Amino acid sequence: MKFPRFGVGVLICAFLVATAVAQNTPRQVGTIVSGGIVVTVDAARNIFDPGAVAIDGTSIVAVGPAADIAARFTGATQVDAAGSIVIPGLVNAHSHAPMVLYRGLADDLRLQEWLEKYIFPAEARTVSREMVRAGTRLAALEMIQSGTTTYADMYYFEEEIARTTKAAGMRGVLGQSVIQFPVADAKTPADALARAEAFLKEFANDDLIVPALAPHSPYTLDAKTLLSSRALATKYSAPVLIHVAETETELGSSRKDHSGMTPVGYLQAIGFFGPRTVIKHGVWVDAADMKILQSHQVAVSHNPESNMKLASGIAPVPQYLANGITVALGTDGAASNNDLDMFEAMRFAALLHKLKTGDPQAVPATVALEMATINGARALGLEKLIGSLEAGKRADLAIVSTASARMTPLYDPVSHLVYAAHGGDVRTVMVNGRLLMRDRKMLTLDEPAVLAEARQFAGTIRSAVGISPGRR
Ligand SMILES: [Zn+2]
Repeated sequence: MKFPRFGVGVLICAFLVATAVAQNTPRQVGTIVSGGIVVTVDAARNIFDPGAVAIDGTSIVAVGPAADIAARFTGATQVDAAGSIVIPGLVNAHSHAPMVLYRGLADDLRLQEWLEKYIFPAEARTVSREMVRAGTRLAALEMIQSGTTTYADMYYFEEEIARTTKAAGMRGVLGQSVIQFPVADAKTPADALARAEAFLKEFANDDLIVPALAPHSPYTLDAKTLLSSRALATKYSAPVLIHVAETETELGSSRKDHSGMTPVGYLQAIGFFGPRTVIKHGVWVDAADMKILQSHQVAVSHNPESNMKLASGIAPVPQYLANGITVALGTDGAASNNDLDMFEAMRFAALLHKLKTGDPQAVPATVALEMATINGARALGLEKLIGSLEAGKRADLAIVSTASARMTPLYDPVSHLVYAAHGGDVRTVMVNGRLLMRDRKMLTLDEPAVLAEARQFAGTIRSAVGISPGRR
């Protein structure tokens, strides 16, 4: 075959034109979120106004000024975030999702009385697979509607919680509970450990669920079961979630039962601490405890509202932070909060430590936001995947409206997120690149059906625990 003499030149020209067009043609991606103030919580704490986030598949491909993103990408789906703040999805580091069904069942009590007189008996009579599913659906609805995209959980029938969480499209680090006394899903600690192992196997390598171990606490488990839980977690490289040093009563009992040791000191003495451990509360700790936690890189979930409501005490959050310990934020179960709104958790964390220390800088707004995002991700071992809006991370985000009177005027988006916003200001939520709520319309959960099912379960709980109609 003979080419005309100008053939090669034409081909080169065509190649150059095609290359130039390719460089200037925006790349097609799945979704572009554009027009709002993007608060990235990345390492440089970049804020883009107006900013945009380009998302393809499950991941963020670019974050930056809106004009730059518009020049480089087009989205099959456009999400308009004008008049809003785009933030990384919030991470709730401590919850017991199905306990939303016990919301308001017993208030104004100390932890021990609340647990032993009300919650443990109510759970003994009403926890079932069905209850756990209904409760998790209600919790997922509330969490999505208030901008939470990832949560850590400790409860029973955790495989049902995992399936329900996946169906709702949320991300979870979900811990199968291990407790010494007989409970709905396990007659003995050995049963609970066997159930936990099956759970760890079933959800290994899941895209949304990280299966975990949740030995309840040093005061509800003997040393043998605590260590068996640790061994199982180590075998599967699973996170360990445990309540530690929540109340002064727990501290006193620990000193009495364990040769003067604090709860943290006791766990250290038996060799419990290991990788990927998150202690819940960590209120009653001393300087030696802090060194132990630091040396094992144990993270702390701070749950200010639950601690305030149960009058448990104030965790030494500024000291944790000064010692380089990762502090995440949690709500605890809605029965001791009484909701799952992480905006409240941020606000209470920021305010409580100012009051405690007399220093308005003790937990500034930026730190409260970090605790609810990147620190939560780090505590749960997910900081490479979530916790900030950055290229390469999973597309987990929330869009917070600034249209209300409470959010007007706006000088500093981080100030508003911590000191003014509440969960109801969240209008759109995405997890793993999938929209779960758009402009307050739920896309993965049937809201009226979830609420009706929860109300029906409340009737069962009411009769099981003998609450008369009307007040209690
Ligand atoms: Zn708890």
